[in-house]
Amino acid sequence: MQSTGSNSPDEAAAQPRQAQQQALPSGEEKIGLPLWLLAELTYRCPLQCPYCSNPLDFARQGAELGTDEWLRVISEARQLGAAQIGFSGGEPLVRADLADLIGESRRLGYYTNLITSGIGLTEQKIADFQRAGLDHIQISFQSSDEQVNNMLAGSSKAFAQKLAMARAVKAHDYPMVLNFVTHRHNIDHIDRIIELCIALEADFVELATCQFYGWAYLNREGLLPTREQLERAERVTNEYRDRLAAEGHPCKLIFVMPDYYEERPKPCMSGWGSLFLTVTPDGTALPCHGARQLPIAFPNVRDHDLRHIWYESFGFNRFRGRDWMPEPCRSCSEKDKDFGGCRCQAFMLTGDAANADPVCGKSPHHGLIVDARNEALHAIQPIQQLVFRNDKNSCRISGT
Ligand code: SF4
Ligand code: SF4
Repeated sequence: MQSTGSNSPDEAAAQPRQAQQQALPSGEEKIGLPLWLLAELTYRCPLQCPYCSNPLDFARQGAELGTDEWLRVISEARQLGAAQIGFSGGEPLVRADLADLIGESRRLGYYTNLITSGIGLTEQKIADFQRAGLDHIQISFQSSDEQVNNMLAGSSKAFAQKLAMARAVKAHDYPMVLNFVTHRHNIDHIDRIIELCIALEADFVELATCQFYGWAYLNREGLLPTREQLERAERVTNEYRDRLAAEGHPCKLIFVMPDYYEERPKPCMSGWGSLFLTVTPDGTALPCHGARQLPIAFPNVRDHDLRHIWYESFGFNRFRGRDWMPEPCRSCSEKDKDFGGCRCQAFMLTGDAANADPVCGKSPHHGLIVDARNEALHAIQPIQQLVFRNDKNSCRISGT
């Protein structure tokens, strides 16, 4: 799965909180509904992006859920109130049952999204998915430059395939999101990236600066852009936005800043166990797709139904509300705005998931973020020296 940058669910799924709570049975009033289900169907992927947000040890995860198990998960989540489903991975196209899962989700009333690298997509599959009722397709690119794209993807054919499939998606009249994870190796080409997206008739372009989880965290030194690079990229994006708006052009540009250059953290997942539910390939249920790394025994859909998992399980209640917060968050006036930031980032950088996210200027660990920014000023690591996301590296890193 690509790092989406924003780390927050699609706003289209975020209905007014009051309405969510009114729909809840008594005794569960304070817990929102899992409006957004991210179905990570597989960790298999033909590409090797060095910023992939999949866990480092993906190669030693358990067996994938079968079709019947996914159909049960999809149905249970819908009964709990889920309104949007994202089919992701790894590369979800490697699953032979994808059209069936899409069809059943649509029949149940979900808004359905396919989040894909485009590798493995064909005109026939697009037609099959359209017949099954797929609403929306997001294709990710690594760069606007063919050579850089293919080097980052670890495939000499990736760029040509992505171009062909982006055109095919539009030819089938789909609303299309193109996603570019930007970092120090491609962010200076932001104008060429935007030009490519306009040429491909993208409806939305997500220019998501790399967020440092999974493989991106491992490669942070080689990926984190400098502040100067970011500011230029944002300025160029704003100039394009103004131009597109003046022309009445329908393409919308979304620019996501990396939190490493902020002084306050993002309200991660709009709050732990608040509206976002991820189910991983082996059935582990998570409040966000990065949470697997936390030292918490998260529940599995093979052992429990989703109602139990969402409302009762330790993992989904661990960081709900505010009672778990230590200082400085506990007495902070901003805690209802950002919920203390990201638990995964707190764990990765400080070793304790309950700490304030070090991105926050009030965190005693904020110096770690400042150090990373300073390192970015002097980093010279070329693309070839990044650690690529593949089975061999996953087994080596996880010691299997
Ligand atoms: S390797 Fe790349 S394409 Fe494959 S799942 Fe990871 S980010 Fe997505
Ligand atoms: S101290 Fe905690 S709650 Fe306050 S702004 Fe920082 S992260 Fe947010």
